[in-house]
Amino acid sequence: MSVLVHGCRRCGHQQAWHESGNGGYTPCRCCRAGTSDPDPAPTLLPTWSSPDGIRERLWEPGSRRNAGTMHATTTCGCDACHAAFRAERVATDGASGGAAPSSQSGQARAAG
Ligand SMILES: [Zn+2]
Ligand SMILES: [Zn+2]
Ligand SMILES: [Zn+2]
Repeated sequence: MSVLVHGCRRCGHQQAWHESGNGGYTPCRCCRAGTSDPDPAPTLLPTWSSPDGIRERLWEPGSRRNAGTMHATTTCGCDACHAAFRAERVATDGASGGAAPSSQSGQARAAG
């Protein structure tokens, strides 16, 4: 599942890395101190299903991921994430009407 994250403007790491002791894994000062400087605009981290290479859906802002596991996290639910989520959903689901982006697939493949 694709996810929206806020990157730290100082180190570029995800905001979540600065929390809950994850900072111990990096040499980064602000991560270790837990003082991130998150970019107000979320960054989309897309994931693709394997092996089809299809773009996976985006987690809804504020949704619980990996619930019930030690890796449970909650996606950011700020206004910027909601706005980005709506824009992404329109782009991927193809809202009613509108021109679809032309897609071309090269089919010529050299057998090797
Ligand atoms: Zn940082
Ligand atoms: Zn960092
Ligand atoms: Zn957010």
